Amino acid sequence: MTANAPITQDVLTIPRKDTPTDGRRNLVGLTREQLREALVSVGTPEKQAKMRVNQIWQWIYHWGVRDFDAMTNLAKTYRATLSENFSVTVPDVVSRQVSDDGTRKYLVRIAGGHEVETVYIPEEDRGTLCISSQVGCTLTCSFCHTGTQKLVRNLTAAEIVGQIMVARDDLGEWPEPGVGSGESGPRLLSNIVLMGMGEPLYNFESVRDAMKIAMDGEGIALSRRRITLSTSGVVPEIARTAEEIGCMLAISFHATTDEVRDKLVPINKRWPLAELLEALKAYPKASNSERITFEYVMLKGVNDSDEDARRLVQLIKGIPAKINLIPFNEWPGAPYERSDWRRIKAFADIIYKAGYASPIRTPRGEDIMAACGQLKSATERARKSRAEIASEAGLG
Ligand code: SAH
Ligand code: SF4
Repeated sequence: MTANAPITQDVLTIPRKDTPTDGRRNLVGLTREQLREALVSVGTPEKQAKMRVNQIWQWIYHWGVRDFDAMTNLAKTYRATLSENFSVTVPDVVSRQVSDDGTRKYLVRIAGGHEVETVYIPEEDRGTLCISSQVGCTLTCSFCHTGTQKLVRNLTAAEIVGQIMVARDDLGEWPEPGVGSGESGPRLLSNIVLMGMGEPLYNFESVRDAMKIAMDGEGIALSRRRITLSTSGVVPEIARTAEEIGCMLAISFHATTDEVRDKLVPINKRWPLAELLEALKAYPKASNSERITFEYVMLKGVNDSDEDARRLVQLIKGIPAKINLIPFNEWPGAPYERSDWRRIKAFADIIYKAGYASPIRTPRGEDIMAACGQLKSATERARKSRAEIASEAGLG
């Protein structure tokens, strides 16, 4: 199926298979060095270890193979050793919903019975996978549905890269062994955005390791320019992102004064606009990436005036930037409304005239609650009350 084929909405429930609890170590999510150590620990001679890492890496991340028996360039006895000690395990997909516009939302179950959401968004020239980094979020942005859910835990690197693997499974995008290299034609899954549930920079090591795996040329091989990490503004980790991941950066900016940003993105109280902007100024050079995406959610009467647009342009002066205007996506009980279309256009116009690209993000997958900020696993019990959210955000 091509990414653009018309799909009518369906809800598909995929039977649960149990994650192995047999004590075997999962090889998914290990860095090359960790994989080497794991192989040596089961008797792989040091001298062969590097070659074995390469072979197994390609089976897992290039060919999408999960069964050691199918790794035909390894000796039978070695394959047996591997399957006694290790597994190649990705999270279970509990259900998949397909929107009228082709957006696919996967409910992914991870160890402990927790659930996160992963969203695939097909577009004409690309296919973007929006992945989650945490179950819930410790932060409490007052317009975000995920922010109403308490943090349950950080995802492991395996669970983060596993979301890419299950999406490729569903899209049928692994090359077939023996039939080409799998590199012909455009990719269905060509881009990754860390814009699902959670604050990726509060789970730095796992996000970094998972993205390194996704970028590795012998596997999933996505260029670092096709990976965008979105942060609410964890200032001390921004320079580290440039150094250790080097992907594109998006910042949940959303307001042009500390007073308003304190309410919308409460992490602003810890790292206010001036400090954030300093960190952002250094990012493009440090990561050798062209520009930063400023995400700006359009909330009626809150942050959407002409004055806001002009202040925004002033604030980001000197930073190579693109401003992504996000019409607010409503969720049950949300304390805001989406700005009118004319207001959004007028705001975009001021930014555009100042010389910045100002695309308006079309909401995708709204009918299945897959749009930005709507993600939240319905089964999750640890919820914050509305009063709690309002008081944490300083609204109450
Ligand atoms: N925690 C990270 C990444 C996840 S949120 C961050 O905050 O950047 C991805 C984007 O969706 C962020 O820019 C977030 O501010 C935005 N968002 C959250 N709730 C939204 C909503 N209800 N409508 C529109 N955008 C929303
Ligand atoms: Fe967390 Fe991002 Fe939502 Fe804020 S916008 S609550 S940081 S997921």
